[in-house]
Amino acid sequence: MREKIIAGNWKMNKDAAGTAELIEGLKAKCPSIPGNVKAVLCPPFTSLALAKSLLAGTQFELGAQNMYSENEGAFTGEISPLMLKSAGCTYVILGHSERRQYFAETDSFINSKVKKAFAEGLIPILCVGETLAEREKNVTDQVVTTQVKGGLAGIPASDAERIIIAYEPVWAIGTGKVATPAQAQEVHKRIRTITAELYGQAVAEKIIIQYGGSVKPDNAKELLHQPDIDGALVGGACLKADSFSAIIQAAH
Ligand code: PEP
Repeated sequence: MREKIIAGNWKMNKDAAGTAELIEGLKAKCPSIPGNVKAVLCPPFTSLALAKSLLAGTQFELGAQNMYSENEGAFTGEISPLMLKSAGCTYVILGHSERRQYFAETDSFINSKVKKAFAEGLIPILCVGETLAEREKNVTDQVVTTQVKGGLAGIPASDAERIIIAYEPVWAIGTGKVATPAQAQEVHKRIRTITAELYGQAVAEKIIIQYGGSVKPDNAKELLHQPDIDGALVGGACLKADSFSAIIQAAH
């Protein structure tokens, strides 16, 4: 049975004091992570080292919200996979819709980062999802297929089976509008089929597919118990220890 992975995307929130407060709160609310569940915190780059030291001895794992596709060099303002690993990251979110929308990230650029993440031993959380206009035009399937295939281009099965794909309908991110469990399950199943077409059913069955988009304590359980929903990528509700720990518990 696939484990459930709950990841919190802090986005551009929390300075050092806010990071310490949230992590201490999570440690108090969630002294142990339930069996078959993993919990990952993705704070801003500036909080990674602090988070790593505060999380020592806990079961929480660490991820970053982005990275560049090179190890070092003249790329002002960018962060490399080697830096993320030395800061204690195991995971890296790639291709979040906000990066696609505000920073013009394309599928091929995201794919170069997915390749680099695997090459350096990080687990990518590849985000895909349609906008409201695309859903209304009935092109969700095409959009998600293009993003999944684009993100996975050239990735061998041995790496693909370790990827996490986060299905995040853009219309549900930060809006309070959550996809119904049935709507989410339909797209998750489709993503499982796309990965089966690319790599075969056995590999597809191993891939963790998270749902993201206004996941909250009161809707988490139903979403997380759909057959192809293997976790959640949580934005707003991960910024409060109470709500993020309740979502972690709901995954059990
Ligand atoms: C996200 O940005 O990845 C996200 C899912 O945000 P929210 O939970 O706030 O909708």
